[in-house]
Amino acid sequence: MDKFTQAFKEFAVEKRVDLLGFAPIERFDGVPAKHHPKSIFPETKTVIVLGKRITRGTLRGVEEGTQFDIYGQYGLSWLSDRMLAITTIAVATYLEDNRWEAVPLQDLPPQIPPSGVPVKPELPAPNVMVDAKDAAVRAGVGEIGYCGELLTPQYGPRQRLQMILTDAPFAASPILEKPVCDKCKQCAKTCPLGAFASGKEKAVTVCGKSMAVAEVDYAICRRCQNGARPNPYHGAGLPDRLGALCVRSCVDHLERSNRVENCFSNEFRKRPAWQCDIIGRPSLQQSV
Ligand code: SF4
Ligand code: SF4
Repeated sequence: MDKFTQAFKEFAVEKRVDLLGFAPIERFDGVPAKHHPKSIFPETKTVIVLGKRITRGTLRGVEEGTQFDIYGQYGLSWLSDRMLAITTIAVATYLEDNRWEAVPLQDLPPQIPPSGVPVKPELPAPNVMVDAKDAAVRAGVGEIGYCGELLTPQYGPRQRLQMILTDAPFAASPILEKPVCDKCKQCAKTCPLGAFASGKEKAVTVCGKSMAVAEVDYAICRRCQNGARPNPYHGAGLPDRLGALCVRSCVDHLERSNRVENCFSNEFRKRPAWQCDIIGRPSLQQSV
């Protein structure tokens, strides 16, 4: 590893970056202009993907069904838009102190439609949205699991991401080879509303990495009262499911089966999971 990359990584760790990966811009070949990093910064050489974990304790109130705002702030709103954003800009300033331009990017939903007109004939309409989950796969940070969420070897589905586009030519991080998801389908089995009911799956291939992803009925997830939340940025975006029963079941499964590095002295799910039906009536889930 060259000295600059080493120093950059050390700085990032000091700033409590939990996840870090480097995708050379060539790994985005074939991505449409409306989602391509070069549409924002044509000189981009590297897309840096960085993330902070959602601490497991942040999910506790939702798992017990007694406190949902802890997750709403420390797992979603504050974590993304305050804590991680501060970390991202700190890392960006490090790059700019070293004469490399650094464009910080939030994890905004790629489903957001354009809100303006192209300012030149060859350009896409603003705003270009780079898909952070997709970029994380290209940067070797993780994979798309069967549940449709990003899984990392360190934290499973427990993280928030942002990106930095830079003209600094970092060495590429290897694409993740060893799968995190074992297709146990606990996410599907524990969904009380049948969002996985079609049983269909599709192969998503990114940079030659093929991942089996379930067909999820997100219209059902939008009505889910099992810890899911509306997309915090735009109504067109997919709902946030990282605190939902499906994804909490994934957290529990990945820890019990030793498939993630960040493990704990005590199991995550200690009692039968609560669930609510489509009109919000609660019951306890039989073990599945
Ligand atoms: S619960 Fe199992 S199948 Fe679903 S995403 Fe997690 S590991 Fe994959
Ligand atoms: S968010 Fe709710 S409805 Fe959607 S898959 Fe998860 S548990 Fe099921």
